[in-house]
Amino acid sequence: MKSIPKKTKKSAAASGAGAAQRSVLRDVSRHLMNTYKRSDMVFTHGRGCYVFDQSGKKYLDFLGGIAVNALGYSYPDLVRTIRREAGRAVHVSNRSHMDRVFFTNSGSEAIEGALKLARIAARQKSGGTGKTRVLALENSFHGRTFGALSITHTLKYREPFEPLVPGVEFVRFNDVADLEAKFNGNVCAIVIEPVQGEGGIFPVSDTFWKCARELATQHGAALIADEIQCGLGRTGRAFAYQRLTGLPDIVVVAKPLAGGLPLGAFLAREEFAAAFSPGLHGSTFGGGPLVCAAGLTFLDTVERKHLLANVRARGAELRAGLKKLAAKFDFIREVRGEGLMLGVGLDVEGAPYVTEALQQGLLINCTHEHTLRLLPPFILTAQQVKEGLSKLDSVFAKTERPAKTQAVPPTTAPALALAAAR
Ligand code: PMP
Repeated sequence: MKSIPKKTKKSAAASGAGAAQRSVLRDVSRHLMNTYKRSDMVFTHGRGCYVFDQSGKKYLDFLGGIAVNALGYSYPDLVRTIRREAGRAVHVSNRSHMDRVFFTNSGSEAIEGALKLARIAARQKSGGTGKTRVLALENSFHGRTFGALSITHTLKYREPFEPLVPGVEFVRFNDVADLEAKFNGNVCAIVIEPVQGEGGIFPVSDTFWKCARELATQHGAALIADEIQCGLGRTGRAFAYQRLTGLPDIVVVAKPLAGGLPLGAFLAREEFAAAFSPGLHGSTFGGGPLVCAAGLTFLDTVERKHLLANVRARGAELRAGLKKLAAKFDFIREVRGEGLMLGVGLDVEGAPYVTEALQQGLLINCTHEHTLRLLPPFILTAQQVKEGLSKLDSVFAKTERPAKTQAVPPTTAPALALAAAR
């Protein structure tokens, strides 16, 4: 039999992959709820810091499923743990000795639990006298469920679902005077992302955090740190709040906790944790053995492989490289963030750069229209930092510059507040 010429074989394979991709996309548009803007890319597998699409094209992943894949793809220890646990028991009845942590299936569910804990603790402290107000920050993001959405500031997420949970008020980002004006004895919780993620990588100032800590103590309210995106090593510290003066009362984590499997948690100081008693809160799937074993492997790997030190070292290299790019390209306004949680603030819209990066085999995203967000895995190597920076350089050079928008970029308000707080 005549063998198929090489070229034809290749194009046959490519068109096969193309047909399979089209069929997947057709199914997606038909059967999944229309909640995400989807690209026509279908990723099939990944290894380390790289991910591959159906045609075999390789991408350096500087986004990690938005801060989820901290150990990259197919991390061998994690794969071993999941295989082992899957063969044991993927679900057992809930255990009862979690006096400091409650496991959930997502970040939003953990936020809901944290809010409930703050409410019940305040109710017990005050004898049920209406200590129910919750303060959150402008430009915040805490999730999509009703409670979490109620403390999320961005109007486009909130408005279509109103009325939301009552009793929430937003404080201007890093504005101590506004915080002092809005805090009183009826506040049961203030919720803060130590580094705002979806909002565009904005670190809360120490002055603001310290003031929130003092007011929460003074009024017997809970200071809740939403560390879902910035926590568990992302900034080069176990928790991003460790940069700040004073501890939170409740900490919420999720995203990388089980290396990509759905696991979140809220942890509380005893004074608050003690407010829960059986029946007040629960979750059928939260804290199952398979995901928790994966969680242990993640935490153990971060420690054994000294990944916090790697996050700090690679983060410093990446930041320095981005600063150089900022000096080269005048539409880059600033570089923000810490460790491997970095934002590149632009004067122009960021979306075209994300598209060009994809073309060049680099995954990044754009948040709040003008911020390119980089959240690479913790296992990133120095070589991959160089590779990513060189791709970004060429992305910035090749992309036709988007028109400057008339509107003031949403990053400006917190940036100014941040500058004022310094
Ligand atoms: N809080 C923060 C800071 C987040 O970044 C996110 C997710 N982007 C959430 C809460 C919600 O987490 P999940 O999507 O797991 O519900």
